[in-house]
Amino acid sequence: MPSKTLGILGGGQLGLMMIIEGRKLGVRFYVHDEHEDAPALRVADKAFVGDHWQELVSSSDVVTFEFEHVSPKALAMAHELGKLRPNLTSVLVKQSKIREREFLREVGLPTPRFAVVNSRSELESAVERFGKCVVKVPYGAYDGKGQYYTGNPKELSEVPNQYPLLVDEFVRFSKEISVVLARSASGEVRFYPAIENYNHEGILIYSIAPAQVPDEVETKALRLAKQLAEALNYVGVLAVEFFVTRGGDVLINEFAPRVHNTGHWTLLGSITSQFENHVRAILDYPLGDTELLRPSAIVNILGKPWNEDMANRILSIPGTKIWWYNKAEVRPRRKMGHVNIIANSIGEVRRRVFDVMNIIYGEEAEKILKSPWPKPDM
Ligand code: ADP
Repeated sequence: MPSKTLGILGGGQLGLMMIIEGRKLGVRFYVHDEHEDAPALRVADKAFVGDHWQELVSSSDVVTFEFEHVSPKALAMAHELGKLRPNLTSVLVKQSKIREREFLREVGLPTPRFAVVNSRSELESAVERFGKCVVKVPYGAYDGKGQYYTGNPKELSEVPNQYPLLVDEFVRFSKEISVVLARSASGEVRFYPAIENYNHEGILIYSIAPAQVPDEVETKALRLAKQLAEALNYVGVLAVEFFVTRGGDVLINEFAPRVHNTGHWTLLGSITSQFENHVRAILDYPLGDTELLRPSAIVNILGKPWNEDMANRILSIPGTKIWWYNKAEVRPRRKMGHVNIIANSIGEVRRRVFDVMNIIYGEEAEKILKSPWPKPDM
């Protein structure tokens, strides 16, 4: 008999990897997605498509989600039946970037300075006040979608006239890092080491673990991530993304109440992957060892179709593995797969990251690596 049945709302790559990792424990996985060609549906024990989320919720022992923007009705039903993990608050807070920031502020966690604006004139005065800033659409936006970089209240023509909007001061960070942790129902917390992330135009390009930051910075980030997990009464894997300022301050940009792209390195670089730890935490098994085995990285494969030559060249680099998500359609910037990299030193990991980048992106690699921001002069 399988140990337990875990229902996953959302059928993307995060669900796919959760299933492949969680199967080792004998867990049975049910998946719901709107689209029948979603990656995780292909490897699920049972696939539920379209309106059939009720069946998934009622037939699973525990229900989780791999994406925040899943059916609110399915989340509510799982919550009412006492099956939802992480809890409803964690996902509801995350469905709006405004609610998320306000929650962080309420529980006393540091964020970039921000304003919530409800009209074009409020938007203009916020831009005037902040100078360089990032305007963000609060709902349904991810991977840098719905983000507008500006420094001039007269240059807002691209920003949709839809309110409310979140206006963030533009943070000239020295680094972006994230913390991935697992928390059990009894409140035990296991941290992975802080991870260094490189984003370009709002989307993750690569991550390296451990982050090359001073110990105090890592300690601060771990402490803040734990505080957030406690404030949410969180169970499962939680990811928190930070900006490290030039003065060594650590600000929370956002969090993800789920497994996270910046934790994919754990598939190769840690004793227990984030996916297995999420499954363990939400099914009440003991948390697994989060120790880093060797310096590790991932590189995202964005907007590229499967290519035999690319695969052969990547796989011939020592310490690399490809995870290919088999998405039905390639779209610009869409996450199609990623490459795991492991090496004996951070220096070697970095070299392999750039080799892999050049294989995937060719001449584009240089442009991507030049600046994290859409406008390099920002
Ligand atoms: P998403 O939810 O689309 O991932 P984020 O708010 O995490 O959006 O932003 C994605 C990336 O955009 C960040 O990792 C960072 O590189 C950049 N970014 C976002 N907000 C700011 C900011 N206030 N200052 C500087 N860069 C930012």
